[in-house]
Order: sequence, then C-alpha cells, then structure tokens
Amino acid sequence: MITKSPADISRRQFIASGSFAVAAGGLLPGRLWAEEGSLVEVARKEGATAKVTVQKLRENVSAVLGAGGNIAVLTGRDGKLLVDAGFATSQQQVNNALQSISSNPIKHLINTHWHFDHTDGNEWIHKAGATILAHQNTRKHLSTSTKVEGWHYTFPPSPAGAIPTHVFADKQTLHLNGTTLLLEHYQPAHTDSDISVYFSDADIFHAGDTWWNGFYPFIDYSTGGSIDGMIRATEANLAKVTDKMIVIPGHGPIGNKAQLTFYRDLLVGVRDKVANLKKQGKSLDEIVATKPTVATDAQWGGGFMSPRQFIGLVFQGI
Ligand SMILES: [Zn+2]
Repeated sequence: MITKSPADISRRQFIASGSFAVAAGGLLPGRLWAEEGSLVEVARKEGATAKVTVQKLRENVSAVLGAGGNIAVLTGRDGKLLVDAGFATSQQQVNNALQSISSNPIKHLINTHWHFDHTDGNEWIHKAGATILAHQNTRKHLSTSTKVEGWHYTFPPSPAGAIPTHVFADKQTLHLNGTTLLLEHYQPAHTDSDISVYFSDADIFHAGDTWWNGFYPFIDYSTGGSIDGMIRATEANLAKVTDKMIVIPGHGPIGNKAQLTFYRDLLVGVRDKVANLKKQGKSLDEIVATKPTVATDAQWGGGFMSPRQFIGLVFQGI
C-alpha cells in the first residue's frame, strides 16, 4: 500500500466504496505526506467529482451517500433536517440529491461529530438557511486549530458560518416534521464529540462514526477516541438497536442489528488478540505478522483502512 500514491489510493477507494476513503492513509510514512500532500486535501479534491446517490429508507427519511460520511435526511413541513454535511466540495451533488428528495428548504443540520468529512459542508448548508446542532465538543474542535495525528494534519479553525449554532452536553430531543428525534452523546469513542440520532417514527438510528459497516474503522486518538471507547459505544448501540431498526453507519452501506453485532464481535476479537500479544512483549510488526485480522481482511481491509493500519490503531490504545 505504501508504494501507491495517496491519490491512487483514494481514487481506488472512492470507486470501490462510493464514500470517504482516504482517512485510511493516516499511518502512511511521513515521506509520502511530504511528497504527495495531505490525504485530507486529496479527499476534499475527490469530493468534487464523487458520485452521490439517494437511498430511500422509511417514511420521510432518506440517506444521501457518497459525499463523505453518510447523510440522513428528514423531510416535511418544517423543512429538511440533515444529519451530517459531507464534503463542501460535493455541494453540487449533495444539493441535487436533496432537491430530488423534496423541494422543502434546508432548515436544520445536525453533526454526528467534528470530523471534516461530516462537517465541511456546514458553511454552505448554514448559508442555505439551516441552524447547526452538535455536541459541545464539536463546536470546540471546529472553533480552534485541531491536529489529528492519525491523519498527520492540523485543521485550522472553521469559518464562522460552519460553527454549530446550538450545542448540547448529554441528550437533546427535537420535535420536527411530525416526529421526535433523540440525540445522545457517547462517552469518548471515535472522538470525544460523537452523538447518535434516532428518528422515532421511522425507527432509524444513525450511529455516526462509532459504526463503520464493512470497513475497519478509523479511531481518532487525538480528540479522545480509543479502541475501548469504540467497543463501549458499539455495546451501547446494540443495547438500543432492535431487529426491526434501520441502522445508518458513518461509513459503508445502510445496515441492521445483525451487521452491527458482527462489527462488535470483530472489534472485541481483534482487541483481545492484539492485547494478548502486546502483553507478551510483541512489537506491532510482530503482531501484524501473526495476521490477527486474517478472517476479515479480504472483506474489511480493502477499503478505508488496511489491516496493518487498523491493527496499529488497536495496538496504540491498549
Ligand atoms: Zn469521523
């Protein structure tokens, strides 16, 4: 993987997944970053030509896929509510997708966490008429210069129009378009700003980046994430999700409880294997050589995060 340029990696992964990919490059050698530029910038560039699709879910809720993190859209008389904003560079495709769902104006935006592939579009969506609601740590990270070690990148403060207009600490309830939305903050998991959003009538649960369906997850240790936090959040998700619920992951296809259970077992299994070997004094290279993720690498390791990168993130946290 390190012989490929970040542009090659991201192009391949965008084609393969139709979604945000290049976060995967987080553990590439610094040499490549210096030569090829930041994968964050490459991801934004790729967002300009990303193929964006609409998937109708249930009742008045749809998903807009392909412009970064998965976007949920609730429509109705109170205007559109979006969960996550995608890349700013995908504005045109996202706007076309939103128009194809309904002509309701965009009135509300919720961010599941502060990462750029979920918040870059905040500014244009706010300008289009939306308030922005998020956890207080999302506003904190977007308001200041924030470094993500795993991406070798420091994000400058976001423009004023991209900063959440409303924040909360623990839980928030919204009544819009004839339904109730329940928002809840996770203990630090993928970041320290993660929230879930539950659409009660449609019975749809958006897990943000606590869930990556079919791809090894990125974990942002720089802003509070950890493998144990990811496992805790996944257990919390499983305690809420039922067999009938539609579950939206931050990345990967729309899913269900069975897939979420598989993901929990995967995280726990890899964590236990890597922890056991680390306790025996094994180095990361030695652990990678034992192939602790071999059972899922063909399906899960070919997209966002290579097996080695994922094992590195697990190793870092235990
Ligand atoms: Zn994220």
